[in-house]
Amino acid sequence: MIASLLLSWYDRCGRTLPFRGTKDPYPIWISEIMLQQTRTETVGDYYLRFLSRFPDVFSLAEADEQDVLKMWEGLGYYSRARNLHKAAKIIAAEYNGVFPADEEKLRSLPGVGDYTAAAVASIAFDLPCPAMDGNLTRVLSRLHGVREDVGMPSVRRQLLSLAREDMPSRRCGDFNQALMDLGATVCTPGTPDCDACPLRTLCQAYAAGDQDMLPVKAAAKPPREVRAAVAVVTCGAKILLLQRKEALLRGLWIFPMTEEGDTPAHMEKRLQQLGVKARLVCPLGEAKHIFTHRIWQMKIYHFRAEKMESREGRWASLAEMQALPLPTAVKAARDFAQGLLTPRMLSLTPDRMAGAAAAYAVSWRQSHEKHCSQAFLREHDERHMEMILRGHLSVGKKVYAIEACGETAGILVLDPVENELVSLYIHPLFQHSGLGRAAVAFAVSALNAARDMRVTLLCDNEAARQLYTANGFTHVQATRALNPARGVYEEDRVRKGEEA
Ligand code: SF4
Repeated sequence: MIASLLLSWYDRCGRTLPFRGTKDPYPIWISEIMLQQTRTETVGDYYLRFLSRFPDVFSLAEADEQDVLKMWEGLGYYSRARNLHKAAKIIAAEYNGVFPADEEKLRSLPGVGDYTAAAVASIAFDLPCPAMDGNLTRVLSRLHGVREDVGMPSVRRQLLSLAREDMPSRRCGDFNQALMDLGATVCTPGTPDCDACPLRTLCQAYAAGDQDMLPVKAAAKPPREVRAAVAVVTCGAKILLLQRKEALLRGLWIFPMTEEGDTPAHMEKRLQQLGVKARLVCPLGEAKHIFTHRIWQMKIYHFRAEKMESREGRWASLAEMQALPLPTAVKAARDFAQGLLTPRMLSLTPDRMAGAAAAYAVSWRQSHEKHCSQAFLREHDERHMEMILRGHLSVGKKVYAIEACGETAGILVLDPVENELVSLYIHPLFQHSGLGRAAVAFAVSALNAARDMRVTLLCDNEAARQLYTANGFTHVQATRALNPARGVYEEDRVRKGEEA
């Protein structure tokens, strides 16, 4: 009776979900693992992305764990992804890629518990296995008037046995999914919508009027609050990331942090342990992340390191950080890091002059050292470069300080009259971090795209040549030689546009 009422309701009112309508155990397994501790609406997009990246159990088994974690990024409870990967290897190697049609064997796979084994067994293989999740527990406890703590093993066994009695001999997977849908849409937590329920005439809680009191659950132990300090440590345009070794978030990349306390002093101690010489720049903000048993109450700081040294972890550019799997727990720190690493082109004002001249001098000397005498290089000190910058400003050129990680990382000079990118220099510490690319893109947008846009660069500067050609510039010609007494070098001229 229960089954027929429920299944006919399911045929009319069951939810349409991206992971429904298949009997293939692989996608069913993926969706059921994702649905553990995650809302159905959240799972849809992740499920489709994951399956397009790992379309079958072999592609998942052969994948790098970091790629699996990256595809899981944002879903949380990352042990699920690691276990999924381990289980895929077992199915590929021991079962030749064929899922066992056996609840016990499914349960023996890493990360597959009672619920998942029953869900896969019933949906993929039509085996009579009740998939006892929160929805089934709630519906069955109300339906059968179970008024004891559903967290107790004896009560769970009782509910499981009731579910087995209710289960039909066919359409077992649909029966489980019907109970899940009823629990999600009608027999909801709090006050259920009993008027819309196909089981109302059979429901003991409805008859007794205590449906909103069920299921009975003992109060959960509140999670422990931990005050933690997190450091966004920059060196040039690189940021220090560490790979977690602890069980919580193992294998994922996070920022240096300590659970010893949330002050800058706690963070400094942790950085010393990591062998990182860094000084505090400023506090960035606060964030909170709630795990099942723990709450991270985090204070986030910006530290600047003298050198890219650390006993563990890696120094990553913005693009590298974006390619690594980072957990949602450090989202706030990641947003701060992203803001710091994203370069900004700031008009040169008097307060930015010293930093710009210093970055200009260092990078100019680096790029000219092969071509010029030592005396000529020495002449190009900060004072001299400041004079050049002031000269540019005095004749109407646009001068920008390129800022990243709170420092002046380079300079950009544009001539709107000649439609020319006059100078672009990036401090050595900030090179190979995407700043040059960002500055060229900015120049292209700031100058007149309808006219030829010119750039002059040293003829043997292959990196610069690649940067410009990647941005649509076309090499034109070598142009001039300078006075040998003042350092001999030639320059090439390139321009944006079709003609060469
Ligand atoms: S009648 Fe109400 S309490 Fe009973 S199963 Fe239906 S929705 Fe739940």
